[in-house]
Amino acid sequence: MAVNIKRPNGTEDVTPKDIHKWHTVEKIARETAETFGFSEIRVPTFENTDLFLRSVGETTDVVQKEMYTVKAKETEFTLRPEGTAGVIRAMLQNGMLNEALPQRVYYIISCFRHERPQAGRLREFHQFGLEMAGSQSPAADAEVISLAKTLLDRLELKNIELYINSIGCPSCRAEYHKALREFFSARKDELCDTCKERLEKNPMRILDCKSPVCQDIAKNAPVILDYLCEDCSTHFEKLKKYLTKLNIDFKVNPKIVRGLDYYTKTVFEFVTTEIGAQGTVCGGGRYDGLIEQLGGQHTPALGFGMGIERLLIVMDKQNCDYLKPRKCDLYFATMGDEALEEAMEFSSKLREFGYFAEYDIMGRGLKAQMKYANKIGAAFTIVLGENELNEGKAKLKEMESGEESEIRLNDKFPAAFEEIYMNKMLGSLEEETNNGSLFAFTDGTD
Ligand code: ATP
Ligand code: MG
Repeated sequence: MAVNIKRPNGTEDVTPKDIHKWHTVEKIARETAETFGFSEIRVPTFENTDLFLRSVGETTDVVQKEMYTVKAKETEFTLRPEGTAGVIRAMLQNGMLNEALPQRVYYIISCFRHERPQAGRLREFHQFGLEMAGSQSPAADAEVISLAKTLLDRLELKNIELYINSIGCPSCRAEYHKALREFFSARKDELCDTCKERLEKNPMRILDCKSPVCQDIAKNAPVILDYLCEDCSTHFEKLKKYLTKLNIDFKVNPKIVRGLDYYTKTVFEFVTTEIGAQGTVCGGGRYDGLIEQLGGQHTPALGFGMGIERLLIVMDKQNCDYLKPRKCDLYFATMGDEALEEAMEFSSKLREFGYFAEYDIMGRGLKAQMKYANKIGAAFTIVLGENELNEGKAKLKEMESGEESEIRLNDKFPAAFEEIYMNKMLGSLEEETNNGSLFAFTDGTD
């Protein structure tokens, strides 16, 4: 019987055809984070379920509806729905917060949420995220936002707006919750069932509800910014001042409350209107209480998560440049076994020099080999047959121009190839620089 195996709903394959897009985002993300002093951290894909209950928050959609919890024998784990909880857990467990502060880490991870799959909303998705722990200064908020902005700019994304808000600290939020409860109680019957529950436990979540009815009611709800205590208010004012100083455009949007419970003070989102409802490409904020909540000493911290699939949807749509996929530098077309062996030897040497060399392992005829070399976009080809071996020299053909140069088949072959190759690359670099393309001479490798 034929087996019909398909990937699960809400997951995606990235095939070699598209991998250079991921490499572009990952490479530029790493480089940008490192220029801001962040180092990579790697943590497990699953954690004890408790960690997420205690950090993301029991009344959030993520915990209530979206977690993938796995039972294995007697133990229970949850596939991470987001990055912060696990990374803070790791910082605590590895004593990182006893070292020089601020601690700054970034990560590129898969996350798992049981949501209704649609464009830009997957069950397994990927985030570039980072966390900075130790600074309570609004300069840290500005720094983290500036990093996200720098990355989006370097990826050449356009038409993305930055929204910022402050959701206060537990002390000013108590007053605000009271005001929200009063406001929503008046129209409690109209709220969705989930929001009815939220009214008591976490009324701010109602502002984040996706139901149109709740959204409509929430339009006139009290605004948190009117309830901020002096400390939170000063923090927010300073952040705005720093962002202005950094030439970062922003809009204050009091509707942004974020979907996770641990946020305090600053929250922010980078949003595009170009890909419909799934337009938030980056979300983050400050979470000054989380580390203490997880058993550490009080340590202010903040971070963000950027959805890589969403970034790529926007980049595709805006025809952004990607790093060019690596292509074959030299293809050996061979006739006969002796030529094949020679090609093997030369290829090994070229690969030691870092070149991408290839020869026929399909048993194709010469014509078919050349067709194949064309198809894979080989920069150079060389034909090795009896004549070439006997004479100890062959013709190296530059495929784009058709130009041929004679090359000796001896120990100096790799060096001679390198010289010709570099000349060609310098030529095309000049040409591309004149065209002003940022990724002119990158080949997808470091
Ligand atoms: P949304 O409001 O779109 O559901 P969120 O507030 O749940 O987003 P966060 O938890 O802040 O998202 O995650 C950070 C980023 O990760 C989001 O801004 C988005 O780019 C991406 N993201 C979140 N959930 C998904 C998903 N199911 N599929 C793809 N990307 C996602
Ligand atoms: Mg969500």
